Amino acid sequence: MVVEVINTGTELLLGEILNTNFQYLSKHLNSMGFDVLYQTTVGDNKNRMQEAVTHAMQRADIVIITGGLGPTRGDITKDTVTEICGLECYLDLDTWGRIDAFFAKKGSCPPPNNDKQAMIPLGAEVLQNDMGTAPGLFISHQDKYLILLPGPPSELTDMCEKQLWPLLRQRFGNLGIILSRTLHLRGIGESLTAEKIDDLVTQQTNPTIAIYARRGEILIRITAKADSSKLAISMLDKAEVVLRERLAAYIYGTDDDSLPSIAGKILSANHQTVAFAESCTGGLASSLITDIPGSSEYLLGSVVTYTNMAKHKLINVQQQTLDEFGAVSRETACEMAVGVRSLMGSDYGVSITGNAGPGESENKPVGLVYIAVATKQAVYCQEHRFPYGRVENKLRIALTAISMLLDKINQENNSEDKI
Ligand code: AMP
Ligand code: MG
Repeated sequence: MVVEVINTGTELLLGEILNTNFQYLSKHLNSMGFDVLYQTTVGDNKNRMQEAVTHAMQRADIVIITGGLGPTRGDITKDTVTEICGLECYLDLDTWGRIDAFFAKKGSCPPPNNDKQAMIPLGAEVLQNDMGTAPGLFISHQDKYLILLPGPPSELTDMCEKQLWPLLRQRFGNLGIILSRTLHLRGIGESLTAEKIDDLVTQQTNPTIAIYARRGEILIRITAKADSSKLAISMLDKAEVVLRERLAAYIYGTDDDSLPSIAGKILSANHQTVAFAESCTGGLASSLITDIPGSSEYLLGSVVTYTNMAKHKLINVQQQTLDEFGAVSRETACEMAVGVRSLMGSDYGVSITGNAGPGESENKPVGLVYIAVATKQAVYCQEHRFPYGRVENKLRIALTAISMLLDKINQENNSEDKI
């Protein structure tokens, strides 16, 4: 069953609002086994909407149109569709009563133009709107289905959960199920990942395998379509095994896992603790760690040591080190990590010092960052360059620091960059 979603609203085309209705609809329709092959956004313009709907009806079995069902002149979706299908409308007393009751609940009366919303095309099924006044419509026309849904996301989702999804399941039975699984990788780039699994990506049709780069990590999404979720899960499992054979060293998590959540899991499991001393990230690494529920178990505390004075006074970085090597240096990073570890009495001390940009400081280039991790046995330090803008740099630096912490927890005995 091919589905096309048409989202109407000039505000969408102007970029004023994000098209969250499409994301919601396509996610659910795909999981029910529908093939969402096209999406069109069109403004509140009759000719262009007519063109979009007519075109969609030629290439899809089901056309879902969102928005434009309100009582104003600018709401033209229902008129456009009834004109294309040649349908007459009648005043549906049941819908009219519901609209009346909706306003009564708020202690007011419906405005006169509200009758427009109670006009229903002959033969259409009404999808009641419990969150607003515009009813949705399910229209069967020739061998196509047209589904009209209100624009406000709270109304649309409520209507789908309560009425549209059950109706589609009942009408179209089991169309199979589509499930996805995401593998999270670190320590490898997009092109090397692609190279390692190029044959799998090109050969596989079900499950499909796709590679994405996001916020400094690589994601591999496996998507399987099957008749049952049990079968889809076993297809995902098999594909994951093959991918792990090639990329095990880089895969650190699946689905909703993240670097902070995995670091938290491992620290909790080991009954270990951590503390951060952050300069150019301004506390962001600690903030990401605290996004994870239960992080108080392992994050003892952190300091934002933005100035040399703070680095010296709070975590005992030697003035001589700062004078000789500068704040953005391997030496300072190491002393920060050791200092915060000792201040907090944690198992690990993580430090971040760098120049997030946009201007140079201390003659150190923009994006130069030192990250250090102090453990009971040693201090490790890495030098990185981040070429993005200030805000993006901060996020990536913070994630890189958490990634390095993970490495050091996992491989404390690896002395490659031990100093
Ligand atoms: P409408 O039903 O077209 O009058 O839309 C009413 C309101 O719902 C708009 O002003 C938006 O705030 C919201 N809305 C409409 N379409 C979408 C969409 N595709 N995604 C997210 N919000 C939407
Ligand atoms: Mg609108």
